[in-house]
Amino acid sequence: MSTMKAEAERCLKCKVPGCAKGCPASTPIPQVFNLFLEGKLKEAGEMLFNNNPLSAVTSIICPHERNCKGHCILGKKGQPVEFYKVEQYISRFYLETFQPPLVEKNGKTVGVVGAGPAGMTMSIILALKGYSITLFEAMDSIGGTLRYGIPEFRLPKNILELYKKILDSLDVKFRPNTRIGTNITTEDMFLDGYDAIFICTGTSRPNRYGLLGETLGHVHFAIDYLRSPDAYKLGKKVVILGAGNVAMDAARTAIRKQHSEVTILNNRSVEEISADKAEVEMATIDGVKMLHDCQAVRITEDSVKCVKIDKTIAEDGSVNYKEDFQSSFEVPTDSVIIAIGQGPGADVVSVGSAKVTQRGLLQVDEFGRTSQKGVFAAGDVVTGPKTVIEAVAFAKKASEKIEEYCNNL
Ligand SMILES: Cc1cc2nc3c(=O)[nH]c(=O)nc-3n(C[C@H](O)[C@H](O)[C@H](O)COP(=O)(O)OP(=O)(O)OC[C@H]3O[C@@H](n4cnc5c(N)ncnc54)[C@H](O)[C@@H]3O)c2cc1C
Repeated sequence: MSTMKAEAERCLKCKVPGCAKGCPASTPIPQVFNLFLEGKLKEAGEMLFNNNPLSAVTSIICPHERNCKGHCILGKKGQPVEFYKVEQYISRFYLETFQPPLVEKNGKTVGVVGAGPAGMTMSIILALKGYSITLFEAMDSIGGTLRYGIPEFRLPKNILELYKKILDSLDVKFRPNTRIGTNITTEDMFLDGYDAIFICTGTSRPNRYGLLGETLGHVHFAIDYLRSPDAYKLGKKVVILGAGNVAMDAARTAIRKQHSEVTILNNRSVEEISADKAEVEMATIDGVKMLHDCQAVRITEDSVKCVKIDKTIAEDGSVNYKEDFQSSFEVPTDSVIIAIGQGPGADVVSVGSAKVTQRGLLQVDEFGRTSQKGVFAAGDVVTGPKTVIEAVAFAKKASEKIEEYCNNL
């Protein structure tokens, strides 16, 4: 406890706190620290929860270097304050001791499609304001990527049980195993009396690489693998194509679950790797090997054929990457995992009649309003793959517009 207090005392309580500015949810960090130091743990937790209902999650898995920690003024010359460590404690305590307030229903009904971070945030915010909420989810439990993507060793799943209890206590009706767009559409929901609908179905379709060999039996997509790693038999050697955060999660999971030797193929230089530094470091500690500047060109039954990538910088500063086909080599493997990003599922277009972008994402204005009256959207299905805190922040913004819309009905 004393180290947490010491951390809270180190905070300069800046008038214009860079940490809060660097946080997509603008967490009021100095104020939370003040309450914490005054011994007001519950009030500190309440402040965090009201600002970001998922603070217990984001305090664990946010890219802190990019957000609060990376913007702390003390980091300019020395050690930045690690607010998130104190936030983890306060937020978890708040969830564990959560007492639902007495909320009078306001007679409005909102359907939330997708029970990931954006849907959980929306359901909690609106339920606390008296809205009757039904939360529809294609899978059998809440959490979205928090449950079916991020591995247990990075985010203990029991935290989601605490959230389920909170949603239940707020009288949020949950319809598991219900994929909107297959048989039910937003039009059906409006006929049944929903005043507004919020779509937050994420991006669950893995991008394909476009290589020969991609359909072979030992080739898998990272986000499919992470959904249920125990279902896979990967063998001793695993090669991962792609070097982002999802690739790091797949690699570290394969080491734990299948005891495999894992090699990540990065088609950029070590400095340009797309995963966060902290994730690369942890993957390296776990024993993941990485080959940089190499491009996979074909997958065979027992190897990935690669060529080196030559990087040149032109006089005008523009960077060119070119495959050097003279440099071909093979990386032997038992399984291949493809981790080069993901997009929205095909059912996004059949959920309702809202317009989609060229990338298949739902088209919204800055407040999450789609082109379909009464239908709002936020999270990855709108922005493409981002982070949990960004999904929360967008959902929060959209909740204000849903309220405005419902008040004017
Ligand atoms: C492997 C992995 C690791 C990640 N690690 C981090 C990290 O460390 N930190 C971080 O901040 N972010 C991380 N992210 C990103 C983060 O998880 C997402 O940005 C965030 O979950 C987006 O929230 P969302 O609510 O928009 O979508 P999702 O979490 O994808 O939730 C969407 C939900 O909608 C449901 N759904 C889909 N279609 C339908 C339908 N038609 N009807 C009903 N329900 C439907 C899905 O089953 C899912 O439950 C990671 C992502 C992945 C894939």
